[in-house]
Amino acid sequence: MNEFDIIKHYFTVASHRKDVVMGPGDDCALLQVPPNTLLAVSTDTLVSGVHFFADMKPEALGHKALAVNLSDLAAMGADPCWVSLALTLPEIDENWIEQFCSGFFELAEYYNVALVGGDMTKGPLSITVTVQGTLPAGKGLKRSGAKVGDGIYVTGTLGDAALGLQQVLGNIAVPEKYKEFVCHKFEHPHPRILVGQALRDIASSALDLSDGLVGDLAHITRASGMRAQIELEQVPLSDAMQNTVSQEQGWELALSGGDDYELCFTVPELYRGQLETALANCGVKFTRIGRMYSGEPEVELVFEGRPYQLQSQSWDHFRK
Ligand code: ADP
Ligand code: MG
Repeated sequence: MNEFDIIKHYFTVASHRKDVVMGPGDDCALLQVPPNTLLAVSTDTLVSGVHFFADMKPEALGHKALAVNLSDLAAMGADPCWVSLALTLPEIDENWIEQFCSGFFELAEYYNVALVGGDMTKGPLSITVTVQGTLPAGKGLKRSGAKVGDGIYVTGTLGDAALGLQQVLGNIAVPEKYKEFVCHKFEHPHPRILVGQALRDIASSALDLSDGLVGDLAHITRASGMRAQIELEQVPLSDAMQNTVSQEQGWELALSGGDDYELCFTVPELYRGQLETALANCGVKFTRIGRMYSGEPEVELVFEGRPYQLQSQSWDHFRK
């Protein structure tokens, strides 16, 4: 198969979306944007050997390449609509492409996202995905909206993907019964799309956790011009984490480990009841881990009311 056969066979999938006027095959995709709508657009690249191991299962890679992009739409509160895919492959390996597509399209179909175009080139393995979503005019969960007194929240549990990475690297021995869980978290992150949508009228700011809580939350403190305080006893750690490493190691992984793709967001006290109701409908666990205070933009950690210092330097080599 040549390049065009591959595109036609694997990447030209009939879409059920009525807003796709022209999908793959012409010079551009043509998409119908509804009136009074903002387009939310985000791109992420995954490079072999940098963002993933060269031998990562292609099915997981297809899933993750789309998931990390959808996670950005989730963090903005947008409804996912369209995606384009630029693939750089060292060679045409149809078996690899087929499995990649199975992971990619399974997630795309789940959220009714249409693949509308892309590119194929030869070179070292790298995947660039651009997703587009919609928001009602005037909406969008920016990083800059947090106010003094807002609670800081996260979805799910933190650090499991980093624990999964350590397990794969052979640095930490995860008990047999938790291995699948942590590897799944590492390879198959699930974008929190429904949570993002539910937070649209409730959260004052939001982002997704890709680089680790402390570094990511620092973006909110800078954009909003205030200080964040995290209470370590509140940080949600999974059973797998609690039964594998010490509390201190758990915090290191949860606070400075990346790849969780959970959402971190701030909510005014006034909306606390609304938040409970909205997220109960999504069936996603969420936890208040701290509060926003006036002061220099920084992330402050406290344990039992006393300042706590992360050892994160020593954990840098654990980063992807
Ligand atoms: P051009 O040279 O005009 O950029 P291409 O040959 O790169 O066109 O692509 C031809 C068509 O196939 C375009 O519509 C493009 O969007 C689509 N396409 C290319 N690669 C992919 C891909 N990986 N997934 C989906 N569509 C693709
Ligand atoms: Mg092209």
